[in-house]
Amino acid sequence: MSVDSITIPVQRAAKSRVAELDYDNLVFGKNFSDHMFVVDYKDGEWQNPQIVPYGNMSVSPANSALHYGQAIFEGMKAYRDENGDILLFRPLDNFKRLNASAERLCMAELPEELFMQGLEQLLRLDAEWIPAKAGSSLYIRPFMFATDEFLGVRPSLSYKFAIITGPVGAYYDMPVKVAVEPTYVRSAEGGAGYAKAAGNYAAALLPTKKMQEKGYHQLIWTDAKEHKYIEESGTMNVMFVVDGVLITPSLSTSILHGVTRSSVLQVARDLGYQVEERKVSVAEIIEAHKAGKLQEAFGTGTAAIISQIALIAHEGQEYELPPVESREISQSIGAALDKIRSGQAPDPHNWVHRI
Ligand code: PMP
Repeated sequence: MSVDSITIPVQRAAKSRVAELDYDNLVFGKNFSDHMFVVDYKDGEWQNPQIVPYGNMSVSPANSALHYGQAIFEGMKAYRDENGDILLFRPLDNFKRLNASAERLCMAELPEELFMQGLEQLLRLDAEWIPAKAGSSLYIRPFMFATDEFLGVRPSLSYKFAIITGPVGAYYDMPVKVAVEPTYVRSAEGGAGYAKAAGNYAAALLPTKKMQEKGYHQLIWTDAKEHKYIEESGTMNVMFVVDGVLITPSLSTSILHGVTRSSVLQVARDLGYQVEERKVSVAEIIEAHKAGKLQEAFGTGTAAIISQIALIAHEGQEYELPPVESREISQSIGAALDKIRSGQAPDPHNWVHRI
């Protein structure tokens, strides 16, 4: 397919469901916009891109994604500014990560134009679904899965890529209690932790559930070899401020390369803060707390940008962090990033993509 000349046929929904939506009580992941973008990979090429009404897809019971998990996804958001323009934040980074995930899971990679054109045309068609209310946004879920009807374990020869969207409310940023996970691991060096592979999330459910039963909101993942170094917090990258320095684990094959992580670090540098990307041991963070030097801890991700950590539990001890109001560095980075993302501040790194 010549991606320069993509025309995407549109089959419109008979009736929009947008009027049925209760914008004041949006539950994440429950509401889906009228349309979805779909495209198939067959015979070595992407073909038949379409925008169709949101609805069920039919798959064979021998669909290889269901059995062997060749399934990947992305998560991003669209906003509306005061002129009614649609704003995306670093969509090409999500596109590149999708293809990095595809490569790791031996799946077909997608041409950039197909991703961007499918996305833009879908958003234009369902623009009414993008909430105008401050803090609210349209969550965008691109995903790809294998479609071969074949039970042999081998890379599928066919795939489906799709984008669905749905409005989400403002994320109420309650500081969370987290506990260092002593037993389970999310991923290992050399594994697929840097990929947004569906299976990574399934494997994290049980450890997360167990930690929640102990009274914590989330867990802090540590390295697979020694449980010594901090990796991520739940489904977010994690950062600390020790003695005025912003510290975060360096990227590896076991850590998801968060778009928010990269943006937070860049904004921190732009604001003149000292930033360190390196191995961060649990012991170092606990020691810093004991010495009164652990000033801030937070997760970063598309959902909340910055999610403050109230308390860290480790080996039966709970370490409470300073009040959120005192957290100068994460607050100022969060505010600066939010302004760039919503088009209210200059965008020196060209992160905002307007449609
Ligand atoms: N780590 C994991 C495991 C995640 O699922 C996410 C959410 N995509 C993140 C980190 C944060 O990534 P991003 O900033 O791109 O949303």
